[in-house]
Amino acid sequence: MKYLLLWGLIFILAIFIYRVATEIQESAQFKTISLSDLITDSDNIEEVKIKGNKIEGKFKNGELFRSYGIADWGFINELIKKGIKVNVFPEEKASIWKDILIAWVPTLVIIFLFFSLVRGIERGNARAITFTKAKAKMFIPKKENKVTFSSVAGIDEVKEEVMDILEYLKNPNKFREMGVRPPKGVIFIGPPGTGKTLVAKAIANEADVPFFYEVGSSFIELFVGVGSARIRDLFDRARKHSPCIIFIDEIDAVGRSRGAGIGGGHDEREQTLNQLLVELDGIESRGEPIVVIAATNRPDILDPALLRAGRFDKKVYFPLPDLKGRIEIFKVHAKRFKVDENVDFEKVARMVPGFSGADIENMLNEAAIMAVRAKKSKIDEETLMKARDKIIMGAERKNFYITEEQKKRIAYHEAGHTMVAKLYGKEQVEKVSIIPRGKALGVTLQIPKEDIYIMDKDYILKKITILLSGRATEEIIFGSESTGAVDDIEKSTEIAKKMIYEWGMSSLGPIAFKTKDEYVFLGKEVARHEEISEEIAKKLDNEVISIISLCYEKAKSIILENIEKLHNLAKALLEKETLLEKEIEEILTTA
Ligand code: ADP
Ligand code: ZN
Repeated sequence: MKYLLLWGLIFILAIFIYRVATEIQESAQFKTISLSDLITDSDNIEEVKIKGNKIEGKFKNGELFRSYGIADWGFINELIKKGIKVNVFPEEKASIWKDILIAWVPTLVIIFLFFSLVRGIERGNARAITFTKAKAKMFIPKKENKVTFSSVAGIDEVKEEVMDILEYLKNPNKFREMGVRPPKGVIFIGPPGTGKTLVAKAIANEADVPFFYEVGSSFIELFVGVGSARIRDLFDRARKHSPCIIFIDEIDAVGRSRGAGIGGGHDEREQTLNQLLVELDGIESRGEPIVVIAATNRPDILDPALLRAGRFDKKVYFPLPDLKGRIEIFKVHAKRFKVDENVDFEKVARMVPGFSGADIENMLNEAAIMAVRAKKSKIDEETLMKARDKIIMGAERKNFYITEEQKKRIAYHEAGHTMVAKLYGKEQVEKVSIIPRGKALGVTLQIPKEDIYIMDKDYILKKITILLSGRATEEIIFGSESTGAVDDIEKSTEIAKKMIYEWGMSSLGPIAFKTKDEYVFLGKEVARHEEISEEIAKKLDNEVISIISLCYEKAKSIILENIEKLHNLAKALLEKETLLEKEIEEILTTA
């Protein structure tokens, strides 16, 4: 907003200067004479223009004149008789408006700008604030309720890695005396919700220094120069509060390779990035104890200049927590929520493979809400399970109306998934349900016993078969296809494509044929379009098709062989709507 105001003022000033200049120039050309002089001098007039009470014209010697007064008809007649060209115009009403506009518009613009500035600040309105939000959020460590290393769980390696930052901020002089090159740019790499902000905050609090928070995208503005000014402003403030930490979340918004993207570079981003580099380099020369931490999930697209030695040269990886990590994160957060002491955290952590720390926190929060609604005094395992289901699959939609016909189709579809998963995939099926949730009409919930880091080809093919068995069941039972399998089909096709194009599982051998990807090559971010000959492309596509059809046939044959079991499973589902693993196993073994 500061800048809009400035530009507005410059614009208005420019108009004024222009107006005044033309005015001066114009009047300099005219000689103002009195009306009586004009009448006596009328013989020398060549041409006259009359606009209201303004008389302008040219003498025969070329001189321009201007006179004010009412030119009556007698005067005009006399001029005409003398053979002088006379033009009479109506009084310029418009000129009054013009005058008013010129006099008032600037004032109004200034008033408007001022009010929108005030309103923007008051409302925190996002649009107005893109201009006002020049200031990053600053957090000063507080004694009570503060995030410390003890609030961070399950990532001990990370804590160890950032220990030197903490030591440095606590005691910068000791570092310098020892000749240690101070840590100044650190990059935190990991998926969202893995605790990057949390750790940065914890370091600030442990070191008892202020913490500046800004999101990378807030440096990206439409106007060139705004982003870099904001970077400068941020570092200026930080310098006043050093030692301190500057945390820039989602650095990739600014830090993308320069000269990348469609239509060449992005001027604004380039300037902003350059400013960031200048400020980073400045820290070193001034020897200020400022540590800049940047977070990203896409280190591959960052400009190499950012990662050069002396800039963001320290990388800390934040993985998704493993089982042990998840247990610890549950325990840390359980202190804040009222969790029943009988809850088995290992069991709960096993239910949520792939959950980040933020997901776990969210799940506990959801469970707490559910416990309050159910008038429970504490969060028990059952509530935690419900919260997990809501997060993974969406909220139950109990009042969602569905015809018996459609319900039957959904029941068979899910029963198909479940049966093939159990009999052929030897997988766990935690539960199967035909209660609509989120946008899904039914779900088969498969949670692996262990975290999966690597998959073999056999496992992948079985996965595809399980995914396709919903559609296969519909075809067998109803003799027709439906749109209910859209997600399954999308997912299985994607996996099959990955097998062939990325994982080197085609008959052509261990070759990656990734067709499109962004990556950094020699400092340039490029979209790679792998040169694949038409002949090979055809072959690869055929392999994808054959994987899918093979798996689909497999699914159908399993279903046909076990059709009685399928009927029983579907019947039970229609009756109970949700079946747990034990019930599923019972039905599958007795039939
Ligand atoms: P990121 O910055 O990586 O996207 P955050 O640090 O903002 O993630 O994490 C969001 C929230 O998730 C934190 O406030 C915290 O409640 C929880 N969280 C994430 N990781 C952890 C962890 N390792 N230990 C405890 N809580 C965590
Ligand atoms: Zn399905």
